[in-house]
Amino acid sequence: MVLLEVRGLSVIYRTLFGTVKALDDVSFTLDKGESIAVVGESGSGKSTLALAISRLLPPNARYVSGEVLFDGINLVKLPQSKLRMIRGTGIFMVFQEPANSLNPVYKIRDQLIEAVKVRMIKSGEAFDEGKALKEIISTLRDVRIPDPEIIIDRYPHQLSGGQIQRVMIAMGLLMRPRLYIADEPTSALDVTVQAQILKLLKDLKSEYNLSIIFITHDLAVASVIGDRIMVMYAGQIVEEGNIDDVVTKPYHPYTQGLLGSLPRISKHEGKLPIIGGSVPSLINPPSGCRFHPRCPYATDTCIKVIPQLKITDNRRVRCHLYA
Ligand code: ATP
Ligand code: SF4
Ligand code: MG
Repeated sequence: MVLLEVRGLSVIYRTLFGTVKALDDVSFTLDKGESIAVVGESGSGKSTLALAISRLLPPNARYVSGEVLFDGINLVKLPQSKLRMIRGTGIFMVFQEPANSLNPVYKIRDQLIEAVKVRMIKSGEAFDEGKALKEIISTLRDVRIPDPEIIIDRYPHQLSGGQIQRVMIAMGLLMRPRLYIADEPTSALDVTVQAQILKLLKDLKSEYNLSIIFITHDLAVASVIGDRIMVMYAGQIVEEGNIDDVVTKPYHPYTQGLLGSLPRISKHEGKLPIIGGSVPSLINPPSGCRFHPRCPYATDTCIKVIPQLKITDNRRVRCHLYA
């Protein structure tokens, strides 16, 4: 059953240097209980997509077109006053930059208790503070927060960035949202903690039928967490499909580039391997195929004609080679 359907979503940012076309005609669906890993180099539009789905775009951003249907409700058109309905237990997002995610004036304890309270009340359970606290401590331990009994009595500014990130991951786990969006939540953490958190998320996914959008630079992480993978380049989806299919046989030249040089030693984890050149400016994106300046197979057609995202076998690919 479909939980989220994004249809033709385009988003721009207004800047002093011009209009940044950060998302261009992005469409995909996510079923209940399904996870999708979103990958792509820096500047490809991954965070913009997450923020656009959650209605958390900054003030200089605009929705140009498209819909975000969450349980059939178009969030793009939903008035601010109704957004509270979907926040938290509907859609929960762990940000790439977590610094301001917590309320600075409340202790961690109060913020996590509130999260559990909201969940319990929404699910018709009677709220029990002692029970909530037990669950909080054990979840903080799960995300490898040392001495959770001490940490919960701190204020956010008394925690490190990595600790705040883990508290946010824990808050998401405690809230059990229908859609959990995580924007590179583990990239700053060490490999063992990362693996632990990924395992937790996977367990919760199967236990509570959680749907997950997981943004990552790391293809190894994507393979662990994703049922499907969505590869983004310069604000567009270039390939999307079942993760095993795409990883074993990538079709799009960009995906091939990402995977071709996938490092085998964990030493290089956290960053995507290098393809010659860099993601173009999205103020004046390249004509035709946005990847043509970096593509080894580019032809005149690629420079002139924009390739559409087409169904090829059991996946979608945006490339003239598969027209
Ligand atoms: P990263 O991997 O570095 O997090 P990303 O894939 O999340 O990158 P986005 O942050 O979504 O990419 O950025 C997409 C494009 O939008 C980039 O060209 C970026 O410079 C631009 N952009 C992002 N945020 C803003 C903003 N607040 N104002 C103007 N431009 C922005
Ligand atoms: Fe390369 Fe052309 Fe395919 Fe773009 S459309 S990825 S330039 S072959
Ligand atoms: Mg980002």
